[in-house]
Amino acid sequence: MEHSRNNKFLIVAPTVVLTPLIDGVITELDTWFEMYGRTARVTSGLRSAQQQLEIIRHYAKINNVDKEFPRVMTCSLLSKYMFNAMSVYEWQPALSRLLNMNVIIAPPFQMIALFDYVRDGVNKRGQIINPSPHFRGTAFDIGGATGKPDVSDELEVVKAAYESKEIANYKGYLIERQNNCVHSDCSIPDGGDPSMTTAIPREPEQTGLA
Ligand SMILES: [Zn+2]
Repeated sequence: MEHSRNNKFLIVAPTVVLTPLIDGVITELDTWFEMYGRTARVTSGLRSAQQQLEIIRHYAKINNVDKEFPRVMTCSLLSKYMFNAMSVYEWQPALSRLLNMNVIIAPPFQMIALFDYVRDGVNKRGQIINPSPHFRGTAFDIGGATGKPDVSDELEVVKAAYESKEIANYKGYLIERQNNCVHSDCSIPDGGDPSMTTAIPREPEQTGLA
């Protein structure tokens, strides 16, 4: 059962894959968006590593990183090659360059950042970068639907909802600027059912035929 598909203000895009965990939080957030009289869209939920590679390709192309590291456009998820005397994923130099350009995208798998990547004043070059929580079914993104070029309207609602501590399992949020969305993290309560983070099967559309 996907409760948040019935939301009236925080609308879940049809392409989004929900888990019981994020479905519950998104359903509760709808009340907050209603309170503020604002509409927004959930643009992403559970994702696969392959989808993440497609996202990396998209941003590699629009930032011309595909010219410097063309392998990113054709590689498979697991294939590796020698780069600066190191065995790396074929997509790893391209993603490292994107991070270097401050285009923040999580890797499909844990990887080492190959170029300078300064975040919160720390250069993470040579450090392990962790994969996206979207693969674990614990995260979702809220995208701009207010007509503004940024997500400040959405952020205001999300911040108030989070700080109220009224939404169960809601762990935190951050802005993903390049994706222009508010990313939200959730967590299973202690002793909670691990299936809360697996995809909810979609019910077939009602056709009206008995
Ligand atoms: Zn996200």
